[in-house]
Amino acid sequence: MTIVPENDTPFPENVDRLFTDCRVATMVSGRYNSMENAALAVAGDKITWIGPKNALPDPLPGNPPVTDCNNHWILPGFVDCHTHLIWAGSRAKEFEIRLAGASYADIATAGGGIFSTVKATRAADEDMLFNLASRRMAHFLNQGITTVEIKSGYGLDLKSELKMLAVVGRLQQAFPPHIEATFLGAHAVPLEFTGRSDDYVRQVVDVMLPEVKRQGIATAVDVFCETIAFSRAQTRQVFEKAKELGFAVKLHAEQLSDSNGTALAAEMGALSCDHLEYLSEHGAKKMADHGTVAVLLPGAFHYLKETRVPPVETFRQLAVPMAVATDLNPGSSPVFSMLPVLNMACLLFGLTCEQALAGATFHGAAALGLADRKGSLARGKDADFVIWDVDTPADLCYFTGITPLKQVVIGGKPIRLEN
Ligand SMILES: [Zn+2]
Repeated sequence: MTIVPENDTPFPENVDRLFTDCRVATMVSGRYNSMENAALAVAGDKITWIGPKNALPDPLPGNPPVTDCNNHWILPGFVDCHTHLIWAGSRAKEFEIRLAGASYADIATAGGGIFSTVKATRAADEDMLFNLASRRMAHFLNQGITTVEIKSGYGLDLKSELKMLAVVGRLQQAFPPHIEATFLGAHAVPLEFTGRSDDYVRQVVDVMLPEVKRQGIATAVDVFCETIAFSRAQTRQVFEKAKELGFAVKLHAEQLSDSNGTALAAEMGALSCDHLEYLSEHGAKKMADHGTVAVLLPGAFHYLKETRVPPVETFRQLAVPMAVATDLNPGSSPVFSMLPVLNMACLLFGLTCEQALAGATFHGAAALGLADRKGSLARGKDADFVIWDVDTPADLCYFTGITPLKQVVIGGKPIRLEN
């Protein structure tokens, strides 16, 4: 580990809170950049200084409150850049019958699959969805997640998609983590449009996207480009309208087959392409050319018992940034914490611990277009971080089944966690 003290930076005059006796992994540029015997100063919602404790002025200007971190590790709060956190209904039954060898058709007959979630989500009112999602958000916070992306996509009609995004808006008001809202109307072809997917895409393009824009309730637009969802041509239609309206775009791509959606998304300036198990070298090169972030979702890979892993070595060679995320959803990734995701990213996909942690922080923020504010610790960045009772950051990838979290700080404020 390298020691990178910021001892050339003068200590600021105004400090609202100081954290001392800590070890810090800043994750700047996706590296640990570890510091021992460090201190971190916060003013307002920003980090104003990080450096060696012995470089602190004595006395401290303004006599700010001081938190002694007991030599614990401070890392940036986790950035979960891909979730479907809002849904109603349960898919546990489907999990059981899948374990017993049920086919996709058996699951559909038993009322399972994504359309069971769509049905339950459409039937739920906004308060019920908010209450369900609030429990999940509280859990995320308890797991050190300080920035979350939440997608719509279980409504699949105007009213229900708007309802889901309204719930995201309420979560943004109710919870300390920063929340980014993504419109995923093109998640699946709804049953009432079976055999008429082009007609549904027209609904998304002509009706839903303009209304979502008018209400200002999402910043990004996502599409599931796959044989069982939307084609490359349909993806292009949605993206063209989304970009015209000023949305950022991103893509569920190459999860189950190679549709070459990634190359299209990269060329259209997508922030990220997500999943990518079947990505070709051509697609990876396009990502490298356009600075697209590869979002790896090992939870879905694990739950679907997939065998083909994303081309991690190619990403390394081409310097494609790799983020990792929970993909929290009821069907293929009921994963409520970044910690098992870190572990799976290492063991199933072959990331190093440093790469996995960078994926959950620095590159996760880049996948949301927030790298200038979130996902790393440096002067001027948002003061969103977590104090962990671990011996080394690698413990966060290595342990499973415990959450060695001591304190979450968001916007410079220590957060009281509730069980
Ligand atoms: Zn997803």
